[in-house]
Amino acid sequence: MVPESAPIAYLDEVFPGIQGEGPYVGVRQVFVRFSGCPLDCAYCDSQRTRRRSERCTIADSDAAGATSTVSNPIDLPLLQHLIAAAAGGAPIHSIAVTGGEPLVQVDFLAAWLARLANDQKVYFEASGIMPERMALIAPYVSICAMDMKLRSTAGGVPRWTEHEEFLRVCSKAGMDVYVKAVVGMDTSVDEVQTCARLIERIRPETVLILQPVSPAHRVRSGPDVSLLAGLQRAALEIIPDVRVIPQTHKMIGAR
Ligand code: SF4
Repeated sequence: MVPESAPIAYLDEVFPGIQGEGPYVGVRQVFVRFSGCPLDCAYCDSQRTRRRSERCTIADSDAAGATSTVSNPIDLPLLQHLIAAAAGGAPIHSIAVTGGEPLVQVDFLAAWLARLANDQKVYFEASGIMPERMALIAPYVSICAMDMKLRSTAGGVPRWTEHEEFLRVCSKAGMDVYVKAVVGMDTSVDEVQTCARLIERIRPETVLILQPVSPAHRVRSGPDVSLLAGLQRAALEIIPDVRVIPQTHKMIGAR
């Protein structure tokens, strides 16, 4: 795959919001959602971000509903302006870089993140693929929420080798990295223990989040609590920190 030219990017939306997933649930962030993704997860709730959009949605409120748009591609000065406007003068915990898969536009990411102030935390959400691209931006990332894609929920081919290298890159860079595995009714103990063993090999203290799949795209229903508890117990036999956390932003009608 040929990297995009810096320093312009195709973005899907920029908006203020409350982090709804994982161990940082509840913190205030400005989200920068990149367009483009090479995967096709069965549970994808941001289908439109898989392709480059002509316009980027700008919101100054946490509730769903666009307030304006700007044309893509977007350059660095405009992005900085949009982030400041989205923050609205209030403190934020971090900038959430998400997608799509942001690493598709790694040249822009490297140019942008290198210019951010040292005290500006970057919370990076990734699908746990393209570890060689992650290595290019790892020095600028404070927190990484990396996926491990399970065949039982995401579909497609297993990506264990890429996930292992991705976690190794994040660990070496010294960032706070946690792993998210979306689980559903068809997820097996074996799949979850494969995640846990991979984590044990690279960085055993890594938090593993088991996130019950939310109905979206090709998924109609999520797992029940007895299945979730069984998967958690199975992973806890291997690593010490395994938590079950659903997508909380959907409970409060946030983006
Ligand atoms: S990696 Fe994310 S954006 Fe891409 S298909 Fe999967 S859920 Fe959708």
